[in-house]
Parts: sequence; C-alpha cells; structure tokens
Amino acid sequence: MVAQTIKTLPRPHKISLVALSVVVFILTASMLFSADASRHATSTVLEPGVKYPVALNLEQLSASNSSVIDSGIESIESQTYRVKPGDNLAKIFKQVGLTPTDTYHVSRAGKHAKKLLKMMPGEFLNFTFDRRGKLNTLIYEFSDTETLTITRKTDDEYISQIDIAEVYTKFRFAQGEITSSFWNAAIKAGMSDNKIMELADIFGWDIDFAMEIRAGDTFNVMYEERFVNGDFIGYGDILAAEFVNQGEVFQAIRHTDGSYYAPNGRSMKKSFLRAPVNFRYISSNFTKKRFHPVTKRWKAHRGTDYAAPTGTPVVASGKGRVIKSTYDRFNGHHVFIQHGDRYVTKYLHFSKRKVKKGEIVKQGQVIGLLGSTGMSSGPHLHYEFLVDGVHRNPRTVTLPKAEPIAKSEKAAFTQLSLPRLTMLANNKRIMLASID
Ligand SMILES: [Zn+2]
Repeated sequence: MVAQTIKTLPRPHKISLVALSVVVFILTASMLFSADASRHATSTVLEPGVKYPVALNLEQLSASNSSVIDSGIESIESQTYRVKPGDNLAKIFKQVGLTPTDTYHVSRAGKHAKKLLKMMPGEFLNFTFDRRGKLNTLIYEFSDTETLTITRKTDDEYISQIDIAEVYTKFRFAQGEITSSFWNAAIKAGMSDNKIMELADIFGWDIDFAMEIRAGDTFNVMYEERFVNGDFIGYGDILAAEFVNQGEVFQAIRHTDGSYYAPNGRSMKKSFLRAPVNFRYISSNFTKKRFHPVTKRWKAHRGTDYAAPTGTPVVASGKGRVIKSTYDRFNGHHVFIQHGDRYVTKYLHFSKRKVKKGEIVKQGQVIGLLGSTGMSSGPHLHYEFLVDGVHRNPRTVTLPKAEPIAKSEKAAFTQLSLPRLTMLANNKRIMLASID
C-alpha cells in the first residue's frame, strides 16, 4: 500500500516522503527505545495505556509539506502496555483497541508468537498502528537479551521473529577480609546477595560458613558482569575464587561443564557438606564462636550446635538412607542418616521431621525444620558426625577424597584455570597496593 502511494506521487514528494518515513521510523524507534528503557528504570518514559500520536511531532517537522501529511502517515501511533496480573493476549488487545480477529491473526504469526503466552506482569508490549488503527508491529522484549517482533505482512497475516542482543561480558573482582561476618565483608566488597550465596555454595563442602568463619579470614573472587548495548543486565558466573579459612587456603575454578574444581583438578563437590544449615540463618554465632571454639567444646559435647530460628530448613549433609526418624523426650524430633558403610549423621531437636525411616535422601535435601524439642534450651540443631560408630569432628576427620576431573578434560581445565588464578592473584596484589 505504501509502495503504491509512493509510485503515484510526483518525485519531489517521493523524496520528502522517504525523508518523512525516516523521521517516522526514528520517532517510532525512539519511542520503542523509551519503552525499553522503562523496563530497567523506575520511571516510565511512556505512560502505559496512553496513545502517543506521532503526527503531533510530524506537523512541526514538516509543516512545509502538508500534502504528505494528508497521505495518512501522520496517523501512525505507538502505544506501550504494561502487563498486569491476570492479563492475556485477548484482554490486552481489547484494551489497546484491537479486535478478537487481530488477536487471532497475531497468535498465528509463527511459532515465536507462543512467547506471548508467557508474558509476566510488569513486562511491556509495544504496539504501532497504521492510520486505520490496524496493528503494524508488536514488540515484546521477553528477556534482557531477547526481543520478539511481530510484523504485519498483509492485511491479516503477521510474521514473527526473535532477535538476540549480543552480550558483552566483563570480569569483576571482589575481595575482603572478615572482621564481623562473611556476609558483611562480602556486601562491603560490593557483592550481590546471590553472588555471596554462590560463593558460600562453592566452598560449602570444605568450609562451615555457619560456625567456622573467623576474623582475619579472606576471600577473593572473580565473576562475570554482563552488558547489552552498554546497559548492565546482571552478573554471570563466578569464574574463580579463593577463600582462606583459619589459615587454610581453598581455591576453586569453574570448568566449562559448569562445575567447580580445585587447581589440582579435584572436584569441589564432596561426600559431605560441612554444614547442614545455610549460614544465612545463623544469627550472631560469629562473635560467640570466638569465645567458644568448636574444638574446645568438642570432647564434652560430641556434636555441633547451630543456633537459628525455629523453622530453619535443615539438610542432609550427604546422600544416604534414613535409619531413624522419630521422637523421644531427650532428642525431641530427630533423624539419623546412614551414608555408605562407615558414616552416620544425626540431627536432633527438630520442630518438624520431613523424612521417614527407610527413605533415600540426596545431599542438600531438607530433612527437617530446626526447633527446640526434647532436652533443648532454645531453638538449635544438634548435629553429630560418626565414623565407624565413633563421634568425630567433621572438620578434622579424614573424609572420602573428592572425585578428580575426567582425564579427557584435565588439559582443557589446566589451560583455563591457570590464567584465572593468575588474574585472581594479580588483582589481590592491586588491592593490597591500593590499601597502602
Ligand atoms: Zn548439642
């Protein structure tokens, strides 16, 4: 249709029409861009549900050529719609002035159009219309990097395409020394909540973040920062990390398989997690621990007490079989797990048990909720670790060796891990230098 109009117009008009089309395109694009920006910013540039006629701007820009404005392009408009809870395509289309027939045609715009079924509240749809109010394009940015565009081909046929933006990744470093708690030190180092948890998870088989972090412990981590068109879209993976706990150095590097390995190629994953409770639930233990180290109480107590709020999830420290899940007046609700032939772990004083005797549990599976049942002075988990029937301190006992990386992967891992460890070390030097 537009093509026909251009053909019948005299040449000077053609040029100005082309020029105007460019203006229309730029304006439309800038409006789309504004809508896009509003996804990331708190203030919305385009008010959702309000129609913005492009014609208003065009009149000023091309007042000298009214005949082109009469040709109908001036009535192109754009509308940004913010998805609300309970919305669906039909509802949204009705609200922006489109018909059920339009909904039907758009829903048949190829397989990509199915993305519209997965719209989430708070996301934006951008519509452009021609002068008859017919939908020209529908744009839906469904992730930070992916955009669905549905374009009208003929009067009732639409096509869809997905564009993937190029992601640019930068390295980011964070390091710190612990004075009050790991969490505080990591926040001070500029790490996000998620990255702090990820770092603790990487070392969760070697370090008890709930009980054994001490003042003077240090961490040094290198992770990805991701950008699209210069906009920060989020953090990527932790690539390499070091944690020094009570003088012991632990290092981990992420391999291409997504798992973490020590520099010697041993997996960071081991048979037992060091703590059956996530350290975030443990309150003010750090200061307490400085005066009552685990080792000092170990002989009399034969276990580790994790004080945390009632209801805190407690997980199996290793995979195994539940050999006891019951209640008595001393241990309260308690669960025992057998791991292979030699190991048993015991968990006492639950407010609620989540597993039954005979059940097979995975490492990290929630087996109960922390409580204060039985002989207990307050909400805490009493955790015991037994080797061949003898109570042992899981910190000092020799545990099964971690699996090494596959032989076929060893060379690739070394090639990847060495430069990363060097970058970590260099960055530490830079940080130390800047402190002096
Ligand atoms: Zn205890």
